[in-house]
Amino acid sequence: MVKTWDQLEELQPAILRMIKNSIVKNRVAHAYLFEGMRGTGKREIGLLLTKALFCESIIDGFKPCEDCHNCRRVNSGNHPDVHIVEPDGLSIKVDQIRNLQAEFSKKGVESLKKVYLISGADKMSVSASNSLLKFLEEPSAETVAFLLTEQPQQMLPTILSRCQILAFHPLSPQAMIKQLVENGVESVKAPLLAQLTNNLDEALKLNVDEWFAQAQKIVLKLYEVLEKNSLEALVTLQSEWFQHFKEKEQIHRGLDLLLLIFKDLLYIHLDKQEQIVFKGESERLKQFALKTSVRRLSIQMSAILGAKRKLEKNMNPQLMMEQLVLKLQEGSSFV
Ligand SMILES: [Zn+2]
Repeated sequence: MVKTWDQLEELQPAILRMIKNSIVKNRVAHAYLFEGMRGTGKREIGLLLTKALFCESIIDGFKPCEDCHNCRRVNSGNHPDVHIVEPDGLSIKVDQIRNLQAEFSKKGVESLKKVYLISGADKMSVSASNSLLKFLEEPSAETVAFLLTEQPQQMLPTILSRCQILAFHPLSPQAMIKQLVENGVESVKAPLLAQLTNNLDEALKLNVDEWFAQAQKIVLKLYEVLEKNSLEALVTLQSEWFQHFKEKEQIHRGLDLLLLIFKDLLYIHLDKQEQIVFKGESERLKQFALKTSVRRLSIQMSAILGAKRKLEKNMNPQLMMEQLVLKLQEGSSFV
């Protein structure tokens, strides 16, 4: 999906400010390295700058119009002077870089300008990297290269040193929710995923993960029984929690989910319902919220954070959880 300047500015405001400056001052670099996680807009922003270079009716001196012949051809992947290289299988092979060079030894088909974009640049084979390095060492006046990577540490330092490096920061939860929905995640599920990770790939995996779906149910159930009966809560720990949350990482995930329930209840009390992340459970959460107070929620949230610290210090997880359950029940109506 093609994104406009304004949409990308929401995603990466600092990067777009820089790019705008370099276009306006006519100081576009010969080679850029865009590094950042998937979903941070590297490719879209590379193509945006490409359009700005070719656009026939640029707006305000920096925004591509998205409508002229050149903008449309870049958007549809049909511009003769714009080349995109992607990993062929697991790597980018030397022939792919040689083909690119052969293409560039010809004059620009329509102008002197040429742009190439290498996606997954860290996946270049050693010979492909060396071949690209020679290419970068002899830049022609009007060539612009974009190298895109999630793992710049895997690349030759000699390549990095020839590029202007722009770090694409992880997305804010709001931008993350947008990206998730655009990638097919139901909008009621996106806020919780965005709260747990700002890595798009990880969030998309979690979204279809059976273990994670089950984890949410168990955590909600634990909350429910906590408020009812201390004995039942301890039974739920034994019969469900310990069966499901075994590894340290899984227990942390469970505690994070539990913490988010308390946070949601706090948002309901503060009348900030738009902030809650368990969207699909909002009716149930509103019922839960009626039975508790802001003061109690704050104490409970610190207890969960304390439990996470104990887990870090390798406290026995079983003991840690039993203590936590008793703490979370302090001050509840039935005690
Ligand atoms: Zn245009």
